[in-house]
Amino acid sequence: MLSGSGSLMWFRKGLRVHDNPALEYASRGSTCVYPLFVIDPHYMVLDPNAYSPGSTRAGINRIRFLLESLADLDSSLKKLGSRLLVLKGEPSEVLIRCLNEWDVRKLCFEYDTDPYYQALDDKAKNYASAAGIEVFSPVSHTIFDPADIIEKNGGRPPLSYQSFLKLAGEPSFSLSVELSWMPPVGDVGRCEILQVPTLKELGYVEKHQDEFTPFRGGESEALRRLRESLSDKEWVANFEKPKGDPSAYIKPATTVLSPYLKFGCLSSRYFYQCLKDVYKNVKRHTSPPVSLVGQLLWREFFYTVAFGTPNFDEMKGNKICKQIPWNDDDKLLAAWREARTGYPWIDAIMVQLRKWGWMHHLARHSVACFLTRGDLFVHWEKGRDIFERLLIDSDWAINNGNWLWLSCSSFFYQAFSPHTKRHAKGIHI
Ligand code: FAD
Repeated sequence: MLSGSGSLMWFRKGLRVHDNPALEYASRGSTCVYPLFVIDPHYMVLDPNAYSPGSTRAGINRIRFLLESLADLDSSLKKLGSRLLVLKGEPSEVLIRCLNEWDVRKLCFEYDTDPYYQALDDKAKNYASAAGIEVFSPVSHTIFDPADIIEKNGGRPPLSYQSFLKLAGEPSFSLSVELSWMPPVGDVGRCEILQVPTLKELGYVEKHQDEFTPFRGGESEALRRLRESLSDKEWVANFEKPKGDPSAYIKPATTVLSPYLKFGCLSSRYFYQCLKDVYKNVKRHTSPPVSLVGQLLWREFFYTVAFGTPNFDEMKGNKICKQIPWNDDDKLLAAWREARTGYPWIDAIMVQLRKWGWMHHLARHSVACFLTRGDLFVHWEKGRDIFERLLIDSDWAINNGNWLWLSCSSFFYQAFSPHTKRHAKGIHI
Protein backbone atom coordinates (compact mmCIF):
# COMPACT_ATOMS: atom_id res chain seq x y z
CA MET A 1 0.00 0.00 0.00
CA LEU A 2 2.17 2.88 -1.25
CA SER A 3 0.11 6.05 -1.50
CA GLY A 4 1.61 8.79 0.68
CA SER A 5 5.10 9.13 2.09
CA GLY A 6 4.99 7.17 5.31
CA SER A 7 7.99 5.94 7.32
CA LEU A 8 8.50 2.97 9.54
CA MET A 9 10.72 3.59 12.56
CA TRP A 10 11.90 0.20 13.82
CA PHE A 11 13.00 0.43 17.47
CA ARG A 12 15.28 -2.33 18.88
CA LYS A 13 17.86 -0.60 21.05
CA GLY A 14 17.83 3.22 20.86
CA LEU A 15 14.69 3.36 23.04
CA ARG A 16 14.64 7.15 23.23
CA VAL A 17 13.44 10.26 21.50
CA HIS A 18 16.50 12.43 22.28
CA ASP A 19 19.44 12.24 19.88
CA ASN A 20 17.78 9.64 17.70
CA PRO A 21 18.78 10.34 14.08
CA ALA A 22 16.71 7.43 12.70
CA LEU A 23 13.58 8.80 14.39
CA GLU A 24 14.36 12.32 13.22
CA TYR A 25 14.77 11.14 9.63
CA ALA A 26 11.61 9.04 9.82
CA SER A 27 9.64 12.10 10.95
CA ARG A 28 11.08 14.53 8.42
CA GLY A 29 8.78 15.09 5.43
CA SER A 30 6.62 12.05 6.17
CA THR A 31 2.83 12.05 6.06
CA CYS A 32 2.76 9.37 8.75
CA VAL A 33 5.22 7.43 10.92
CA TYR A 34 4.84 3.90 12.27
CA PRO A 35 6.99 3.59 15.45
CA LEU A 36 7.33 -0.19 15.80
CA PHE A 37 8.77 -2.47 18.46
CA VAL A 38 8.66 -6.24 17.98
CA ILE A 39 8.62 -8.54 20.99
CA ASP A 40 11.18 -11.09 19.83
CA PRO A 41 10.82 -14.73 20.94
CA HIS A 42 14.61 -15.11 20.61
CA TYR A 43 14.97 -13.02 23.77
CA MET A 44 11.55 -13.42 25.35
CA VAL A 45 10.50 -17.08 25.28
CA LEU A 46 9.61 -18.09 28.80
CA ASP A 47 11.93 -20.68 30.34
CA PRO A 48 10.26 -22.35 33.34
CA ASN A 49 13.29 -24.63 33.87
CA ALA A 50 15.95 -21.95 34.12
CA TYR A 51 17.80 -21.44 37.42
CA SER A 52 16.04 -18.09 37.88
CA PRO A 53 12.79 -16.65 36.50
CA GLY A 54 12.74 -15.12 33.05
CA SER A 55 13.30 -16.17 29.47
CA THR A 56 16.00 -18.45 28.09
CA ARG A 57 18.28 -15.51 27.41
CA ALA A 58 17.19 -12.83 29.85
CA GLY A 59 16.43 -12.81 33.56
CA ILE A 60 13.29 -11.20 34.94
CA ASN A 61 15.11 -8.01 36.00
CA ARG A 62 16.22 -7.21 32.45
CA ILE A 63 12.84 -8.05 30.92
CA ARG A 64 11.16 -5.77 33.46
CA PHE A 65 13.70 -3.04 32.66
CA LEU A 66 12.94 -3.40 28.93
CA LEU A 67 9.15 -3.24 29.45
CA GLU A 68 9.55 -0.13 31.62
CA SER A 69 11.70 1.41 28.89
CA LEU A 70 9.06 0.64 26.26
CA ALA A 71 6.27 2.12 28.40
CA ASP A 72 8.35 5.26 28.87
CA LEU A 73 9.06 5.47 25.13
CA ASP A 74 5.35 5.06 24.37
CA SER A 75 4.54 7.90 26.75
CA SER A 76 7.20 10.19 25.17
CA LEU A 77 5.89 9.39 21.68
CA LYS A 78 2.35 10.17 22.82
CA LYS A 79 3.53 13.60 23.98
CA LEU A 80 4.75 14.16 20.40
CA GLY A 81 1.39 13.10 18.94
CA SER A 82 2.35 9.52 18.13
CA ARG A 83 2.53 6.16 20.00
CA LEU A 84 4.49 2.92 20.07
CA LEU A 85 3.10 0.04 18.00
CA VAL A 86 3.96 -3.26 19.66
CA LEU A 87 3.81 -6.54 17.75
CA LYS A 88 5.03 -10.04 18.58
CA GLY A 89 6.93 -12.54 16.45
CA GLU A 90 10.16 -13.19 14.59
CA PRO A 91 11.23 -9.59 13.93
CA SER A 92 12.21 -9.82 10.26
CA GLU A 93 8.98 -11.67 9.42
CA VAL A 94 6.87 -9.15 11.34
CA LEU A 95 8.73 -6.26 9.76
CA ILE A 96 8.32 -7.59 6.23
CA ARG A 97 4.61 -8.08 6.85
CA CYS A 98 4.32 -4.48 8.02
CA LEU A 99 6.29 -3.16 5.06
CA ASN A 100 3.91 -5.04 2.82
CA GLU A 101 0.72 -3.87 4.44
CA TRP A 102 1.49 -0.34 5.57
CA ASP A 103 2.10 2.89 3.72
CA VAL A 104 5.91 2.88 3.99
CA ARG A 105 8.41 4.66 1.74
CA LYS A 106 11.23 4.91 4.27
CA LEU A 107 12.46 2.25 6.69
CA CYS A 108 14.56 3.75 9.51
CA PHE A 109 16.43 1.93 12.27
CA GLU A 110 19.60 2.44 14.28
CA TYR A 111 22.61 0.52 12.97
CA ASP A 112 23.48 -2.41 15.22
CA THR A 113 26.84 -4.16 15.29
CA ASP A 114 25.71 -7.27 17.24
CA PRO A 115 25.85 -10.39 15.01
CA TYR A 116 22.24 -11.25 15.81
CA TYR A 117 21.01 -7.89 14.50
CA GLN A 118 23.43 -7.83 11.57
CA ALA A 119 21.77 -10.99 10.22
CA LEU A 120 18.28 -9.65 10.90
CA ASP A 121 19.06 -6.29 9.34
CA ASP A 122 20.41 -7.86 6.17
CA LYS A 123 17.06 -9.58 5.65
CA ALA A 124 15.15 -6.35 6.29
CA LYS A 125 17.41 -4.29 4.01
CA ASN A 126 17.25 -6.81 1.17
CA TYR A 127 13.49 -6.94 1.31
CA ALA A 128 13.11 -3.15 1.52
CA SER A 129 15.51 -2.50 -1.35
CA ALA A 130 13.74 -4.99 -3.59
CA ALA A 131 10.42 -3.31 -2.74
CA GLY A 132 11.79 0.14 -3.59
CA ILE A 133 11.69 1.32 0.05
CA GLU A 134 14.46 3.68 1.13
CA VAL A 135 16.53 2.37 4.08
CA PHE A 136 18.14 4.74 6.60
CA SER A 137 20.26 3.06 9.27
CA PRO A 138 22.59 5.52 11.01
CA VAL A 139 25.28 4.70 13.61
CA SER A 140 24.05 6.26 16.86
CA HIS A 141 24.42 3.55 19.50
CA THR A 142 28.12 4.39 19.73
CA ILE A 143 30.10 7.62 19.51
CA PHE A 144 32.34 6.34 16.72
CA ASP A 145 31.52 4.08 13.81
CA PRO A 146 33.46 0.86 14.55
CA ALA A 147 33.80 0.24 10.79
CA ASP A 148 35.63 3.59 10.34
CA ILE A 149 38.15 2.80 13.06
CA ILE A 150 38.80 -0.66 11.62
CA GLU A 151 39.27 0.82 8.16
CA LYS A 152 41.74 3.41 9.52
CA ASN A 153 43.69 0.50 11.01
CA GLY A 154 44.07 -1.30 7.69
CA GLY A 155 41.04 -3.57 8.13
CA ARG A 156 41.90 -4.94 11.58
CA PRO A 157 40.48 -3.80 14.91
CA PRO A 158 42.96 -2.16 17.29
CA LEU A 159 43.71 -4.55 20.16
CA SER A 160 44.80 -2.07 22.81
CA TYR A 161 42.93 0.84 24.35
CA GLN A 162 45.82 3.22 23.61
CA SER A 163 45.94 2.29 19.92
CA PHE A 164 42.16 2.66 19.80
CA LEU A 165 42.43 6.20 21.24
CA LYS A 166 45.10 7.17 18.70
CA LEU A 167 43.04 5.94 15.77
CA ALA A 168 39.76 7.35 17.04
CA GLY A 169 40.92 10.90 17.81
CA GLU A 170 38.19 13.41 18.58
CA PRO A 171 34.70 12.31 17.54
CA SER A 172 32.81 14.40 15.00
CA PHE A 173 29.07 13.93 15.40
CA SER A 174 26.22 16.36 15.64
CA LEU A 175 23.40 15.45 17.95
CA SER A 176 20.09 15.06 16.18
CA VAL A 177 17.45 17.76 16.47
CA GLU A 178 15.05 17.55 19.41
CA LEU A 179 11.56 16.67 18.12
CA SER A 180 8.66 18.89 19.20
CA TRP A 181 6.00 16.88 17.31
CA MET A 182 5.68 13.85 15.06
CA PRO A 183 3.49 13.01 12.08
CA PRO A 184 0.51 10.83 13.06
CA VAL A 185 0.59 7.04 13.04
CA GLY A 186 -0.64 5.65 9.70
CA ASP A 187 -3.42 3.15 9.07
CA VAL A 188 -2.33 -0.23 10.47
CA GLY A 189 -4.90 -2.23 8.53
CA ARG A 190 -5.50 -5.73 9.88
CA CYS A 191 -2.43 -5.80 12.16
CA GLU A 192 -3.25 -6.56 15.76
CA ILE A 193 -1.39 -3.90 17.65
CA LEU A 194 -0.64 -4.53 21.33
CA GLN A 195 -0.15 -2.16 24.22
CA VAL A 196 3.24 -2.45 25.93
CA PRO A 197 2.68 -5.73 27.80
CA THR A 198 3.23 -6.39 31.48
CA LEU A 199 5.47 -9.19 32.76
CA LYS A 200 2.37 -11.16 33.66
CA GLU A 201 0.86 -10.74 30.19
CA LEU A 202 4.05 -12.19 28.75
CA GLY A 203 3.64 -15.20 31.02
CA TYR A 204 6.45 -14.53 33.48
CA VAL A 205 5.80 -15.30 37.10
CA GLU A 206 7.54 -13.10 39.62
CA LYS A 207 7.86 -15.84 42.19
CA HIS A 208 11.28 -14.72 43.47
CA GLN A 209 10.28 -11.43 44.99
CA ASP A 210 13.89 -10.76 45.87
CA GLU A 211 14.90 -10.38 42.21
CA PHE A 212 13.93 -6.78 42.11
CA THR A 213 16.39 -4.35 40.66
CA PRO A 214 16.22 -0.86 42.21
CA PHE A 215 16.96 0.63 38.75
CA ARG A 216 13.90 1.59 36.75
CA GLY A 217 14.03 1.43 32.95
CA GLY A 218 13.36 4.23 30.49
CA GLU A 219 14.67 7.38 28.89
CA SER A 220 13.12 9.69 31.51
CA GLU A 221 14.93 7.89 34.32
CA ALA A 222 18.16 7.80 32.26
CA LEU A 223 18.11 11.57 31.76
CA ARG A 224 17.25 12.12 35.42
CA ARG A 225 20.18 9.93 36.51
CA LEU A 226 22.46 11.69 34.06
CA ARG A 227 21.46 15.14 35.36
CA GLU A 228 21.99 13.96 38.93
CA SER A 229 25.49 12.65 38.18
CA LEU A 230 26.47 15.76 36.23
CA SER A 231 25.20 18.15 38.89
CA ASP A 232 28.25 17.31 41.02
CA LYS A 233 30.88 18.84 38.75
CA GLU A 234 33.75 18.11 41.14
CA TRP A 235 32.77 14.44 41.23
CA VAL A 236 32.69 14.29 37.43
CA ALA A 237 36.00 16.13 37.12
CA ASN A 238 37.77 13.91 39.68
CA PHE A 239 36.22 10.59 38.64
CA GLU A 240 39.01 8.04 38.63
CA LYS A 241 38.39 4.36 38.07
CA PRO A 242 39.29 1.96 39.62
CA LYS A 243 39.22 4.21 42.71
CA GLY A 244 35.77 4.16 44.32
CA ASP A 245 34.09 1.77 46.70
CA PRO A 246 32.60 -1.26 44.90
CA SER A 247 30.45 -2.03 47.94
CA ALA A 248 28.80 1.40 48.10
CA TYR A 249 25.22 0.21 47.59
CA ILE A 250 23.04 3.11 48.72
CA LYS A 251 24.87 5.61 46.54
CA PRO A 252 26.94 3.60 44.04
CA ALA A 253 30.45 4.91 43.31
CA THR A 254 29.75 5.13 39.56
CA THR A 255 26.88 6.48 37.45
CA VAL A 256 24.84 3.24 36.94
CA LEU A 257 24.04 4.46 33.45
CA SER A 258 25.11 1.17 31.81
CA PRO A 259 21.61 -0.39 31.54
CA TYR A 260 20.34 2.84 29.96
CA LEU A 261 23.21 2.85 27.47
CA LYS A 262 22.64 -0.83 26.76
CA PHE A 263 19.02 -0.27 25.67
CA GLY A 264 19.82 3.12 24.21
CA CYS A 265 17.51 4.93 26.66
CA LEU A 266 20.50 7.25 26.93
CA SER A 267 22.52 8.34 23.91
CA SER A 268 26.24 7.73 24.47
CA ARG A 269 26.93 10.72 22.22
CA TYR A 270 24.76 12.99 24.37
CA PHE A 271 26.43 11.64 27.52
CA TYR A 272 29.87 12.30 25.98
CA GLN A 273 28.93 15.85 25.00
CA CYS A 274 27.56 16.59 28.50
CA LEU A 275 30.82 15.37 30.06
CA LYS A 276 32.87 17.55 27.71
CA ASP A 277 30.71 20.54 28.70
CA VAL A 278 31.45 19.88 32.38
CA TYR A 279 35.19 19.62 31.64
CA LYS A 280 35.12 23.05 29.94
CA ASN A 281 33.95 24.62 33.20
CA VAL A 282 36.41 23.11 35.66
CA LYS A 283 40.10 23.86 36.20
CA ARG A 284 41.31 20.27 36.12
CA HIS A 285 39.82 16.93 35.28
CA THR A 286 40.94 13.32 35.01
CA SER A 287 41.68 11.75 31.60
CA PRO A 288 41.22 8.38 29.86
CA PRO A 289 41.51 5.57 30.74
CA VAL A 290 40.37 6.48 34.29
CA SER A 291 37.99 9.43 33.68
CA LEU A 292 34.28 9.19 32.93
CA VAL A 293 34.93 10.01 29.28
CA GLY A 294 37.54 7.26 29.49
CA GLN A 295 34.81 4.80 30.59
CA LEU A 296 32.71 5.67 27.56
CA LEU A 297 35.76 5.11 25.40
CA TRP A 298 36.22 1.63 26.91
CA ARG A 299 32.75 0.94 25.60
CA GLU A 300 33.78 2.19 22.15
CA PHE A 301 36.95 0.10 22.27
CA PHE A 302 35.06 -3.14 22.99
CA TYR A 303 32.42 -2.38 20.36
CA THR A 304 35.15 -1.90 17.76
CA VAL A 305 37.10 -5.05 18.60
CA ALA A 306 33.91 -7.12 18.83
CA PHE A 307 32.71 -5.87 15.44
CA GLY A 308 36.02 -6.66 13.75
CA THR A 309 36.73 -10.08 15.31
CA PRO A 310 35.09 -13.22 13.92
CA ASN A 311 33.80 -15.53 16.69
CA PHE A 312 34.47 -12.85 19.30
CA ASP A 313 32.13 -14.58 21.74
CA GLU A 314 33.90 -17.96 21.63
CA MET A 315 37.29 -19.36 22.46
CA LYS A 316 37.41 -21.69 19.44
CA GLY A 317 37.91 -19.96 16.14
CA ASN A 318 38.63 -16.64 17.83
CA LYS A 319 42.07 -15.47 16.72
CA ILE A 320 42.55 -13.02 19.58
CA CYS A 321 41.64 -15.55 22.29
CA LYS A 322 44.17 -17.78 24.05
CA GLN A 323 43.23 -21.45 23.79
CA ILE A 324 43.13 -22.63 27.39
CA PRO A 325 42.17 -26.12 28.67
CA TRP A 326 39.51 -24.86 31.10
CA ASN A 327 37.76 -27.11 33.64
CA ASP A 328 34.38 -28.46 32.72
CA ASP A 329 33.13 -28.74 36.28
CA ASP A 330 29.45 -27.86 36.50
CA LYS A 331 29.43 -28.23 40.30
CA LEU A 332 31.98 -25.45 40.67
CA LEU A 333 30.02 -23.34 38.21
CA ALA A 334 26.75 -23.89 40.11
CA ALA A 335 28.41 -23.03 43.44
CA TRP A 336 29.64 -19.76 41.93
CA ARG A 337 26.29 -18.96 40.30
CA GLU A 338 24.31 -19.75 43.47
CA ALA A 339 26.63 -17.84 45.84
CA ARG A 340 27.85 -21.00 47.61
CA THR A 341 31.62 -20.71 47.21
CA GLY A 342 32.15 -19.97 50.92
CA TYR A 343 34.09 -16.79 50.06
CA PRO A 344 31.88 -14.01 51.51
CA TRP A 345 32.99 -11.31 49.07
CA ILE A 346 32.42 -13.51 46.01
CA ASP A 347 29.10 -14.82 47.30
CA ALA A 348 27.85 -11.32 48.18
CA ILE A 349 28.55 -10.13 44.64
CA MET A 350 26.74 -13.11 43.12
CA VAL A 351 23.73 -12.34 45.35
CA GLN A 352 23.82 -8.75 44.09
CA LEU A 353 23.95 -10.00 40.49
CA ARG A 354 20.83 -12.09 41.00
CA LYS A 355 18.88 -9.48 43.01
CA TRP A 356 19.85 -6.31 41.20
CA GLY A 357 21.34 -7.36 37.87
CA TRP A 358 24.01 -4.71 38.35
CA MET A 359 27.31 -4.65 40.23
CA HIS A 360 30.25 -2.24 40.39
CA HIS A 361 33.01 -2.88 37.86
CA LEU A 362 35.50 -4.08 40.49
CA ALA A 363 32.94 -6.51 41.87
CA ARG A 364 32.52 -7.92 38.36
CA HIS A 365 36.32 -8.17 38.19
CA SER A 366 36.45 -10.15 41.39
CA VAL A 367 33.87 -12.78 40.47
CA ALA A 368 35.04 -13.14 36.86
CA CYS A 369 38.63 -13.57 37.97
CA PHE A 370 37.60 -16.02 40.71
CA LEU A 371 35.62 -18.21 38.30
CA THR A 372 38.36 -18.35 35.66
CA ARG A 373 42.10 -17.86 36.03
CA GLY A 374 41.96 -16.82 39.69
CA ASP A 375 40.53 -19.89 41.39
CA LEU A 376 38.01 -22.25 39.84
CA PHE A 377 39.54 -22.41 36.36
CA VAL A 378 36.06 -22.71 34.80
CA HIS A 379 35.62 -21.63 31.15
CA TRP A 380 34.95 -17.89 30.77
CA GLU A 381 32.12 -18.62 28.31
CA LYS A 382 30.13 -20.22 31.14
CA GLY A 383 30.50 -17.20 33.41
CA ARG A 384 29.75 -14.94 30.46
CA ASP A 385 26.46 -16.80 29.88
CA ILE A 386 25.37 -16.26 33.48
CA PHE A 387 26.23 -12.56 33.34
CA GLU A 388 24.50 -12.31 29.96
CA ARG A 389 21.27 -13.65 31.40
CA LEU A 390 21.22 -11.83 34.74
CA LEU A 391 22.76 -8.40 34.09
CA ILE A 392 20.32 -5.62 33.31
CA ASP A 393 23.11 -3.98 31.28
CA SER A 394 24.04 -7.24 29.51
CA ASP A 395 25.75 -6.11 26.33
CA TRP A 396 27.17 -8.52 23.73
CA ALA A 397 30.36 -6.60 22.89
CA ILE A 398 31.16 -5.35 26.40
CA ASN A 399 30.35 -8.52 28.29
CA ASN A 400 32.38 -10.77 26.00
CA GLY A 401 35.22 -8.24 25.86
CA ASN A 402 35.49 -8.01 29.62
CA TRP A 403 35.31 -11.80 30.11
CA LEU A 404 38.09 -12.23 27.55
CA TRP A 405 40.08 -9.66 29.49
CA LEU A 406 39.39 -10.92 33.01
CA SER A 407 40.14 -14.55 32.15
CA CYS A 408 43.46 -13.44 30.60
CA SER A 409 42.28 -14.92 27.31
CA SER A 410 42.85 -11.70 25.41
CA PHE A 411 44.08 -8.09 25.70
CA PHE A 412 45.84 -8.65 29.02
CA TYR A 413 47.90 -11.68 29.99
CA GLN A 414 50.26 -10.83 32.84
CA ALA A 415 48.36 -11.99 35.91
CA PHE A 416 48.47 -15.62 36.96
CA SER A 417 47.56 -17.55 40.04
CA PRO A 418 49.91 -20.29 41.24
CA HIS A 419 47.13 -21.50 43.56
CA THR A 420 44.49 -22.07 40.94
CA LYS A 421 43.85 -25.78 41.46
CA ARG A 422 44.39 -25.70 45.24
CA HIS A 423 41.72 -23.04 45.77
CA ALA A 424 39.30 -24.86 43.50
CA LYS A 425 39.57 -27.96 45.65
CA GLY A 426 39.14 -25.94 48.82
CA ILE A 427 35.65 -24.59 48.25
CA HIS A 428 32.72 -26.21 49.99
CA ILE A 429 29.74 -26.86 47.82
P1 FAD B 1 30.54 4.09 34.89
O1 FAD B 1 31.85 3.87 35.57
O2 FAD B 1 29.70 5.19 35.38
O3 FAD B 1 30.90 4.29 33.36
C1 FAD B 1 30.04 4.93 32.42
C2 FAD B 1 29.81 4.01 31.23
O4 FAD B 1 31.05 3.64 30.63
C3 FAD B 1 29.17 2.69 31.63
O5 FAD B 1 27.80 2.83 31.80
C4 FAD B 1 29.56 1.80 30.46
O6 FAD B 1 28.71 1.99 29.35
C5 FAD B 1 30.95 2.31 30.10
N1 FAD B 1 31.95 1.45 30.75
C6 FAD B 1 32.44 1.54 31.99
N2 FAD B 1 33.36 0.56 32.22
C7 FAD B 1 33.43 -0.15 31.09
C8 FAD B 1 34.20 -1.26 30.68
N3 FAD B 1 35.09 -1.87 31.47
N4 FAD B 1 34.01 -1.76 29.44
C9 FAD B 1 33.15 -1.17 28.59
N5 FAD B 1 32.40 -0.11 28.92
C10 FAD B 1 32.55 0.41 30.14
N6 FAD B 1 29.24 -3.38 31.07
C11 FAD B 1 28.10 -3.36 30.37
O7 FAD B 1 27.58 -2.27 30.07
N7 FAD B 1 27.49 -4.52 29.99
C12 FAD B 1 28.02 -5.75 30.28
O8 FAD B 1 27.46 -6.78 29.89
C13 FAD B 1 29.22 -5.79 31.05
N8 FAD B 1 29.79 -6.97 31.41
C14 FAD B 1 30.95 -6.98 32.14
C15 FAD B 1 31.54 -8.20 32.48
C16 FAD B 1 32.71 -8.25 33.24
C17 FAD B 1 33.33 -9.58 33.58
C18 FAD B 1 33.31 -7.05 33.65
C19 FAD B 1 34.57 -7.06 34.47
C20 FAD B 1 32.75 -5.82 33.30
C21 FAD B 1 31.59 -5.76 32.52
N9 FAD B 1 31.01 -4.53 32.13
C22 FAD B 1 29.83 -4.53 31.42
C23 FAD B 1 31.75 -3.27 32.25
C24 FAD B 1 31.52 -2.44 33.51
O9 FAD B 1 31.66 -3.21 34.66
C25 FAD B 1 30.15 -1.76 33.51
O10 FAD B 1 29.96 -1.06 32.27
C26 FAD B 1 30.06 -0.72 34.62
O11 FAD B 1 30.32 -1.31 35.86
C27 FAD B 1 28.67 -0.13 34.61
O12 FAD B 1 28.48 0.74 35.68
P2 FAD B 1 28.33 2.31 35.46
O13 FAD B 1 27.33 2.57 34.40
O14 FAD B 1 28.11 2.90 36.78
O15 FAD B 1 29.77 2.68 34.90
